[in-house]
Amino acid sequence: MNQRVLNEIQELRQKRKAVILAHNYQPAEIQDLADFCGDSLGLSLEASKTGAEVIVFCGVRFMAETAKILSPDKKVVMPDRWAGCPMADMITAEQLRTLKQEHPGALVVCYVNSTADVKAESDYCCTSANAVEVVNSLPRGKQIIFVPDQHLGRFVEEKTGRDLILWPGYCPTHVLIAEDDIQEARRQHPEAVVMAHPECSEPVKQLADALLSTGQMLTFVQSSPARQFIVATEVGMIHPLRKVRPDAEFFPAGRRGVCPNMKKITVEKVLASLASLQYEVTVPEDIRLRAKRSLERMVEILPEK
Ligand code: SF4
Repeated sequence: MNQRVLNEIQELRQKRKAVILAHNYQPAEIQDLADFCGDSLGLSLEASKTGAEVIVFCGVRFMAETAKILSPDKKVVMPDRWAGCPMADMITAEQLRTLKQEHPGALVVCYVNSTADVKAESDYCCTSANAVEVVNSLPRGKQIIFVPDQHLGRFVEEKTGRDLILWPGYCPTHVLIAEDDIQEARRQHPEAVVMAHPECSEPVKQLADALLSTGQMLTFVQSSPARQFIVATEVGMIHPLRKVRPDAEFFPAGRRGVCPNMKKITVEKVLASLASLQYEVTVPEDIRLRAKRSLERMVEILPEK
């Protein structure tokens, strides 16, 4: 890695009073230079507690929007303006409004991987770690619309025994991980424990030993006696897993679990972002306040999350 670029980032980070956040799926060198690494909501909550004036979000747009929703007085920038999440973009606020009209009285739960506009149209937000608890907390007998990820939605249906009105969204990266990838990885590493993210397809999830969010994977491997793990989620996750279990071996489930949007961020772009405070992410105030309500309702259900 270019030391001069790193030194400049260090200088500018202090000058700008900036905090650099990196999602678990970011390239290793970005995770290594960040102030905080983690999942999207955890990072946004962490940043909101700091005295920083600028948040440089190394992730995708909906994550930067979430940071802005929680930290309206901070300037939020993304190093690459085109780093978006295809799953978040699979439903618009207008499509959600139509769905709500088709199911009057239904409660809406949106996965945090959604745009600020969609969060604003939702009653509750959830993460992959707490989606089951959020849905379980809602009154029985109420219809529930779950957007945008159908695979996380099916996982929640299975765990809660409730029928959800699912939107047919999906993560194009997680669905590329195939049953064959798991079977082949198991053949090569028969002792390994298979961890899969709930965004994976149902056949892949059925082959896994544990279904876990990224944060749960980090906790799981720290208390597991196993020394080998097969990881069925975006490959960037292997970097933080190795950090918390340096004695263990981690193998990706195949080679296709790479999110091209997450990999758009480079060290040079982080430097440019700090230098020019680009590319700023804003959320209109009325949308921000409504989106924040759906996040707050989730936190009220799960105060410790
Ligand atoms: S891994 Fe999937 S859900 Fe995550 S940012 Fe990439 S496309 Fe979106």
